[in-house]
Amino acid sequence: MNVKGLVFLGILSIFSLSSCSSSKNIPQKVITKIIRDTIIVNSKTDQYEMTRAAKLEDYKINAINYPAVGQDERVRFLVLHYTALNNEKSMQVLTQQEVSSHYLINDLDDNDIHLLVDETKRAWHAGASKWKNLDNLNFTSIGIEIVNLGYTTNNGLMTHYPYPEYQFKKIGSLTKDIVNRYNISPVNVIAHSDIAPGRKHDPGPLFPWKRLYYEYGVGAWYDEADKQMFISTAPFIFDGEVVIKEFQKELKKYGYDITETGIWDDKTKKTTQAFQYHFNPTKYDGNLDVETWAIIKALNKKYNP
Ligand SMILES: [Zn+2]
Repeated sequence: MNVKGLVFLGILSIFSLSSCSSSKNIPQKVITKIIRDTIIVNSKTDQYEMTRAAKLEDYKINAINYPAVGQDERVRFLVLHYTALNNEKSMQVLTQQEVSSHYLINDLDDNDIHLLVDETKRAWHAGASKWKNLDNLNFTSIGIEIVNLGYTTNNGLMTHYPYPEYQFKKIGSLTKDIVNRYNISPVNVIAHSDIAPGRKHDPGPLFPWKRLYYEYGVGAWYDEADKQMFISTAPFIFDGEVVIKEFQKELKKYGYDITETGIWDDKTKKTTQAFQYHFNPTKYDGNLDVETWAIIKALNKKYNP
């Protein structure tokens, strides 16, 4: 983002804030934060953007004349989760325990989306994670937790909870805003399960990735014609070192943390299941079939040609 003018807020801010009728309601710590941060004006939008910079008593920090060309966003990934808890418990855990997310989307039909961690700060949502050879994605991502009870298991059969329409609209609106502001690549809009296969299963197979793509332009989705084309040219038997190796190569190319062993090992099965949660959600048993084969091929044709 191209940044030009710079205005320091000093003691003046206290007066200007005090002049607002609502200033009495602003907690002390919020006022302190505003004074210590720096306001930068975006030359394209003329809007003020809060950022962090040193503010010294004895030196002037000059940011007007030499904005560096060599810079980009620290945020490169958007990671989506479900909480597997109700509204109240979700808020409690995400604000009081050593786990957090930038945003929390409740499952109420209201206009609220909760910001729990400033976007400039690191939220603790991803844990041990890897995508596109980068690990510990907390450093480079925005995390959104969505209130959804996850799944129940009966005789080994998983039943997932759907995402209500009003909640989907909140998800669409928020993710679109984040993806556009940080220019996040479609393939970097990911599920927690994508970056921690086997360990994590959220936001699950009922998460509406396809609708998010078509209705909000967020994330990745394959073209149906490509899928059909790869179905028609797929191997007859999904077994054997060569086929498995090629499938692992495709998963790795898309971003998954997997090694091309040519062996259908536990990690490959779990990674395949994570992939199916996201892109082939009617079948998520972790077994390789013609659809799964064709979809990963179609995705790489479109996004990693
Ligand atoms: Zn999660």
